[in-house]
Amino acid sequence: MAKPPLRVGLIGTGFMGKAHIFGYTTAARVFDLPRNIVLDTVADITDEAARAAATRYGFEKATSDWRTIVEDPNIDVVNITAPNALHKEMSMAAIAAGKHVYCEKPLAPLAIDASEMTEAAEAAGVKTQVGFNYICNPVFGLAREMIRSGELGEIRAYRGYHAEDYMTDETAPFTFRHDPQGGGAFADLGSHTLATAEYLLGPITRVMGDTVNVIGERPDGKGGIRKVEVDDVGRAFLRFQSGATGSVEASWIATGQKMSHDFEVYGSRGGLTFSGERLNELRFYPVSAIPGRDGFRTILAGPNHPPYGEFCVAPGHQLGFNDLKAIEVAGYVGAIAGLHDEPFNFRAGWRIQSLVETVHRSSQQERWLDT
Ligand code: NAD
Repeated sequence: MAKPPLRVGLIGTGFMGKAHIFGYTTAARVFDLPRNIVLDTVADITDEAARAAATRYGFEKATSDWRTIVEDPNIDVVNITAPNALHKEMSMAAIAAGKHVYCEKPLAPLAIDASEMTEAAEAAGVKTQVGFNYICNPVFGLAREMIRSGELGEIRAYRGYHAEDYMTDETAPFTFRHDPQGGGAFADLGSHTLATAEYLLGPITRVMGDTVNVIGERPDGKGGIRKVEVDDVGRAFLRFQSGATGSVEASWIATGQKMSHDFEVYGSRGGLTFSGERLNELRFYPVSAIPGRDGFRTILAGPNHPPYGEFCVAPGHQLGFNDLKAIEVAGYVGAIAGLHDEPFNFRAGWRIQSLVETVHRSSQQERWLDT
């Protein structure tokens, strides 16, 4: 029997728009999805950009007006990969039209906006998803299983680090990521590292933040200079509900770092480390009974770490960044079909936005705050 179609309207065809398109096309081939994904309409700010994307990626229609997607009765999912400041308006319009909404992180510039989006979606009964793709990594699932099963003993400490260097150059222009409302490295990258911290260790209950602006002005892209107020580096000490202590750091001026979405977990019987630049490797240190025989060993992702086996039967052959989007898409499509809960819905995205804001507030007030 033919699977019912799931018609997607995608808004914004930049870095993440392309990653989501990879996600839809790959997920449809790798997983036995319950719905047949149809790339229906693509929107960008000009007709040319939208048409070029439609031709290149195989959408049926193109538009320079994203409302066309929201208003189209045939479209099931509105996929928002546009700049942060637009997430709320687009999501609220889509929810009001009864669409499922898949929105990139951060869910909205402010937690209050994210709360309104969450409440609107839940009241409308639509399915939502936020793009925290790193937690879709099969070795993150393995790490969580090892933590929860007690294999590492009592978990005592955590360290998270998301560092890239795309804002190192002070002559790089002001972008939506510098928006005084909701911009900054901690919202952009710290959100990911907080999501990973809670995915692995459970709720964070207290934070002590330090978020710092380093580059105070940038070219505005129109020949002038624009003041930049948002943080380039953010750090937070953490207390987890479990009793573990920890820290996270996010930076977009970490010269030389390209994709360090890293974590370290220290338990009484073992330790784990991971680096985003080694996406398929989990390093495991089991406390050894034999003196002189201890040391970290590397576990390579393989079919024993779901859903790696859907992609490839052979271990160690490696998944990539875009494959994590395919896993995220598959989880979301399953949720839309009613097979399970959404993997990371708007309520979860709101939680992360609240944590980001609490870290900023703690930094401003120079004191520990409850989350
Ligand atoms: P980008 O600048 O590469 O792409 C944004 C796209 O949106 C551009 O094509 C732009 O023309 C389009 N756009 C802007 N205004 C629009 C409008 N009114 N209507 C239609 N299209 C419009 O940005 P990006 O890096 O792709 O970031 C987009 C979102 O994805 C952001 O929220 C960002 O935080 C998020 N993001 C997530 C990850 C991740 O790993 N999950 C990585 C990067 C970015």
